[in-house]
Amino acid sequence: MKLHIGFDDTDSLKGGCTTYLASCLIELLYKLKFVRFLDYPNLVRLNPNIPWKTRGNGAVCLRLEIPEWAYLEVRERVVGFVERSFRGEAETNPGIVFLKGDVSEQVKGFSFEALWRVVSLSRALRLIRVVGGEAYGFNNCRGIIGALAACGETLEDDYTFEVIAYRTRRFWGKPRKIDPESVLRMDRETYPQTFNNLDPETGRILIMPRGPDPVLFGVRGETVEAVLKALKMVSVDEPIERWTVFRTNHGTDNHLRCRCRVAEVKPHMAVVVEGWVSKPPKTIPGRHVIFSVSDGTGEIFCAAYEPTGELRKVVKGLVVGDRVRVYGGLRKAKPRTPKTINLEKIEVLELTRKVELKNPLCPRCGKRMVSMGKGKGFRCEKCGFRDSKAKKVEVEVPRSLKEGLYLPPPRSHRHLTKPIQRYGMEKHGWNFEEPKVFWGRSLADLPF
Ligand code: ATP
Repeated sequence: MKLHIGFDDTDSLKGGCTTYLASCLIELLYKLKFVRFLDYPNLVRLNPNIPWKTRGNGAVCLRLEIPEWAYLEVRERVVGFVERSFRGEAETNPGIVFLKGDVSEQVKGFSFEALWRVVSLSRALRLIRVVGGEAYGFNNCRGIIGALAACGETLEDDYTFEVIAYRTRRFWGKPRKIDPESVLRMDRETYPQTFNNLDPETGRILIMPRGPDPVLFGVRGETVEAVLKALKMVSVDEPIERWTVFRTNHGTDNHLRCRCRVAEVKPHMAVVVEGWVSKPPKTIPGRHVIFSVSDGTGEIFCAAYEPTGELRKVVKGLVVGDRVRVYGGLRKAKPRTPKTINLEKIEVLELTRKVELKNPLCPRCGKRMVSMGKGKGFRCEKCGFRDSKAKKVEVEVPRSLKEGLYLPPPRSHRHLTKPIQRYGMEKHGWNFEEPKVFWGRSLADLPF
């Protein structure tokens, strides 16, 4: 029997991590001789604009083959394990979902929506009942939403891999010490099969989180081989407790599939809107750059915030009338700020002519003339020519901005943002197959 186990919301800002729980659970299930893994553990990032997420809005699904008689045992072990792990913390709302058989189109549709909008717990619970699944929740049970969404995102379109190395408990909360040279070398030797290891603008290492969670570092890439090679190349001066390879939607733009008109956008949605620049870019305190886009159904502010780095330069080059496609999360209106698309990337589709009014050229000698006063015409300082009827003329100014796609630097990418290097490397289709190497307790377990 096929069994999909989704879980989410098992951690808090104080510590923990849903992927770590997944890694420990995998070990537990792996030891049950009747369990066969049908896929790498799926790490699914959901709508990044959900305000109640802890960090990256990630949920995990394990896809297994088990004998029917073992269902109750597996269910009890998983529920017990999650319950013991989250230790009853009040701000954590774990959810676990069990679905048997093939994932239905309805559940896939639910996941599709959970990637770019807010979906409700009652809808998740109704759907679980309809498809004959089971759900377990703690506290306000909100984790059931993410758990179901993880089951429904079977990653059959584009996907990537991430290997995550975890810290031993005594190091949790302590600063991570990683050899930056080893990361540089790893990046050089595995590019473009791995991505977003470093931020090229600042040199910052991106594979290492900063919080108190058990993740030591994680490397993202196109294949299992690439991320495992990278795992072996990174030097850290603390022991690795365990490592796990996840199949993920990281770096796939999975959340940016909803093309909306301005009138349709709602708070916390991830949207793609096409229109014309209707108010010119303006730098506001905090070095953020804002401008407006309209599409005939309405006008909306767009913001390139300070962390988007060089993207702000692109935005500053826009002029009213440019045709653009903006991608980002919708921040709801606050008392002093209107609702705004928080830019994740922008496509400049068509540049308009930029014209400036300039003094006319002298018809006799070709030099630009000077004004003789408001409404009094122009004279040439070189040859003395005067024309009291001459007016300012429109002159086309060359545009430095080029049409094309622009992204912020990797340091401000969301987990889901597709890096520029992945364009053209997208995968389509996945043959569900038993994963060979996907977790271990030490690097000595690695086959390569
Ligand atoms: P981590 O990345 O460390 O696992 P997190 O950032 O995933 O943490 P959670 O603690 O899991 O954050 O909180 C996210 C919560 O939002 C979960 O309860 C999840 O079920 C819920 N959620 C996820 N996507 C949606 C959505 N589209 N609509 C409504 N709720 C959602």
